[in-house]
Amino acid sequence: MGHLFGTNGIRGIPGKDLSPDVVSSVARAVAAKLGHPIVVGMDGRLSSPALKELVVSSLLESGSDVVDVGMLPTPALQYYISRGRFGGGIMITASHNPPEFNGLKVMGGNGVEVPRSVEKEIEKLVESKKPRKPVDRPGELREDRTGVEKYVAGVKSQVDVRSIKMKHFRIVVDAGNGMQALAVPQLLKELGATVKCINCEVNGAFPGRGPEPTAEKLVNLSNQVARGGYDLGVAFDGDGDRSVFCDERGMILTGDRSGSFLAEFLLRVKGKNKVVTTIATSSLADWAVEPTGSELIRTRVGSVDVTDTMIKEKALVGFEENGGFFYLPHQPVRDGAMTLGLVLWALSYYGTAFSRCISRLPRLYQRKGKTQAPNEIKYKVVEEVAKSADGAVDTTDGAKVTQQDGSWVLVRASGTEPLIRVFSESRVESEAEELYKKYMLLVEQIIRKQR
Ligand code: MG
Repeated sequence: MGHLFGTNGIRGIPGKDLSPDVVSSVARAVAAKLGHPIVVGMDGRLSSPALKELVVSSLLESGSDVVDVGMLPTPALQYYISRGRFGGGIMITASHNPPEFNGLKVMGGNGVEVPRSVEKEIEKLVESKKPRKPVDRPGELREDRTGVEKYVAGVKSQVDVRSIKMKHFRIVVDAGNGMQALAVPQLLKELGATVKCINCEVNGAFPGRGPEPTAEKLVNLSNQVARGGYDLGVAFDGDGDRSVFCDERGMILTGDRSGSFLAEFLLRVKGKNKVVTTIATSSLADWAVEPTGSELIRTRVGSVDVTDTMIKEKALVGFEENGGFFYLPHQPVRDGAMTLGLVLWALSYYGTAFSRCISRLPRLYQRKGKTQAPNEIKYKVVEEVAKSADGAVDTTDGAKVTQQDGSWVLVRASGTEPLIRVFSESRVESEAEELYKKYMLLVEQIIRKQR
């Protein structure tokens, strides 16, 4: 069967590689490994209701009590778990994957995705196919539909509501037919904003712009913001844990830029602290922490790595270049609506247009690309790159080569696909391009030799 858990939970196509057997065994393993009750939530995918029934009944027949919280964003489920007394939770979602996919994210009693070690134990139980022990009594099922309401109140409690309300923000929201359609319009109404909502009907076929908020898919959002004289635009991924912003001119911000902007703001208002980000994030992250003498900690790529490090280090903030942003006082997991709340707080604090706030960040040029590399050799190729690199090499995750002027290039094997990714960054555009080309060429040469 191989690895059941990927970088972010279990994913597959129901009926194909995500069979009812596997789903039910995972639920039974969760019942055996975590305490109870188990909180179960789901996204709006067409296959989610059936998978939820299967998960709930498998938990109940294993003797675990279940709280069914229905449809909600992943961070809303996590918040619900973290603020109550539960053994853990299961979210039925495939996040930003295409409509035919679905999956399971398993959370511990603190609302955070279970560590890799627990994932391995669950995998082992699923693979062992041990006959089920009869239980003395089946679990009890309770329904609670207050998850979204509690989540919205939780987000509001972390920001300066008064100063946000005074600004009467005008905002375009693109929920991409995903889960934040259930929470964000309500949150913004309570924050005194005027909202134009696009793709805000939950629809598992994702007929709008699809569940992945890449810049190319957000042209409509940009245009609506710029033409309609709005203050900003925001888009979310399918399950609502990641957010992507555009300023009042409709310029889409990368996760590096919005994350660094927010990290700098939060350190400014909260004082010196720690910030966690991944090895793939821009040097803007260093710019964000410097003014307060705070510490920047870089981890491997992956939200679970950021979360684990944040908890260990008690870091105020975490972020990723893909639009994931984590705020410890709320919860140490990425959270789209919380990020939006923090952006509004920052904009009301600075009192100027979003584009002006962002223009304070230094201009850095990036080049990103990928090349095919068979799974059997991809890690070996990256090792070879590290050996022949020209500059200081960091092998936290892949090979990151930094030059004397601060320009860097990261060569990394994808955790899930037969690919090697190459990212470069420099203050000088031609230098970013040159570094990228040089290392892409090196990667391709090594791949040819390995074959
Ligand atoms: Mg997601």
